[in-house]
Amino acid sequence: MTIDATAVDTAAATAHPGLPARGRSAEDLLGELHALTARDLPTRGGRTAAYVYDTGRPEVREAAERAYLAMMEVNGLDPTAFPSIVALERQVVGATAARLGGDDATPGIFTSGGTESIILAVKAARDARPEIAEPEIVVPVTAHAAFHKAGAYLRVKVVPVPVDPRTFRADPAATDAACTVNTVLVVASAPSYAHGVIDPVAEIAARASARGIACHVDACVGGWLLPWLAEAGAQVPAFDLSVPGVTSLSCDLHKFGYAPKGASVLLFRDEALRLHAYYACAAWPGYTVVNSTIQSSKGAGPLAGAWATLQAVGADGYRELGRAALAATRRLIAGVAAIDGLVVLGEPEATLVAIGADPDAPLDLFALADEARERGFFLQPQLALGGLPANLHLTLTGVSEGGVEDLLAVLRESADAVRALGPAQVPAELVALLGQVDLTALDNASFAALLPATGLRLDGPASEATPTDGGGAVGGARMAPINRLLDALPVATREALVTRFLSALYSPHLGG
Ligand SMILES: *Cc1c(COP(=O)(O)O)cnc(C)c1O
Repeated sequence: MTIDATAVDTAAATAHPGLPARGRSAEDLLGELHALTARDLPTRGGRTAAYVYDTGRPEVREAAERAYLAMMEVNGLDPTAFPSIVALERQVVGATAARLGGDDATPGIFTSGGTESIILAVKAARDARPEIAEPEIVVPVTAHAAFHKAGAYLRVKVVPVPVDPRTFRADPAATDAACTVNTVLVVASAPSYAHGVIDPVAEIAARASARGIACHVDACVGGWLLPWLAEAGAQVPAFDLSVPGVTSLSCDLHKFGYAPKGASVLLFRDEALRLHAYYACAAWPGYTVVNSTIQSSKGAGPLAGAWATLQAVGADGYRELGRAALAATRRLIAGVAAIDGLVVLGEPEATLVAIGADPDAPLDLFALADEARERGFFLQPQLALGGLPANLHLTLTGVSEGGVEDLLAVLRESADAVRALGPAQVPAELVALLGQVDLTALDNASFAALLPATGLRLDGPASEATPTDGGGAVGGARMAPINRLLDALPVATREALVTRFLSALYSPHLGG
């Protein structure tokens, strides 16, 4: 038999949709990634005041990157096949527990993020109470959306409780009053993401404990921040496992641990509760499954990246990053107070700040966010809910200190620009229309055709983009019209609209 070399060559050179005919070089691929990320928000330098956490230390990033790559191919599916992951996870969980009222015997789980930690905390609380047929969790209305997601995924009823409208902190008495015989978990945040304030953990946990109910502290954003802020002189009430009645706690290392994304720790007061977070399956003919997390096969990169970041920053490093973030926050709070039309909501206790509109001389915050974005700073819009006002969120990190005067200058300029635009137009007709349309019945094409009417513009002028050392650019998208619209809609319509939008975004009708 002879092989026709030309025929083989031609077959091999035929491209498949979405794939090149021949494999491309890493150089070529990284060039394409660089071009794509040039339109993203910058991940470094502190001008993106949400989503990203930057130490500003290249040696830390390098340690995380190399550790991540070194463990990328290790599969966390089976800790007996890859004992390295047990060793690393025990170190990471142990370090987190030791900072948060536990010790090296404190049971924990390394998860992919805050949402996964919270879903597992809710699962553990639910499964620890098998006698309750219709389980409920009681959460302050300021609790993270992840609890609602956990409720939806696990079929657990979520009971939101109003918070103090002035301090935005959970109300222990109201939380207690919302508990029933079906309550499997009560939640407190340290701090809440939206307003950056710490709920009265001790009182909430004590009341839950008196009823025999588990209490989870959501310290996703604060767990690896608050202890260092306390060392820098901030007033931080006890919020961790040292507080009686707290049965579990979540702490995201991919936030103020500054680890690459995919890193959170869920701690339990006792190992019996952790057992209820685990999952095992022997009811199929393949390998026997036993998982500590929702994912089964998973790369060990995030675990190694988190471990390396903790080790590369060290206690001194976190102390200094905490001090810097706190100084930036205090400066920002004082600076915002001096800008007409803006106020800081509540009294932020961490380094998360919600900027609201002054009720006496309100500014259109959504337009302000667009103006700030044009000027190189991304602030995160948060919609009004119940009696809680709309606001712009900022998370200040270890690199924010150097840029805080620039940020305040941008806020002042943006406020002037928005004032010159005049009062915001609430799109009454669109709101009425959306009240009548069945959004789920629209397909991607018709939804995409409707979008221009909302005023949303995803592709802003690239010329106004501000290049940064991260290679990214702020600027472009005009989000105020869509945020104003969402803000005016009821919660269910907001959810239907953004879901519809996401579907269209990942379709040829919108996806660029
Ligand atoms: C970020 C955050 C979460 C969710 O974390 P992800 O890592 O985004 O899944 C939950 N709670 C609080 C308080 C947070 O800040």
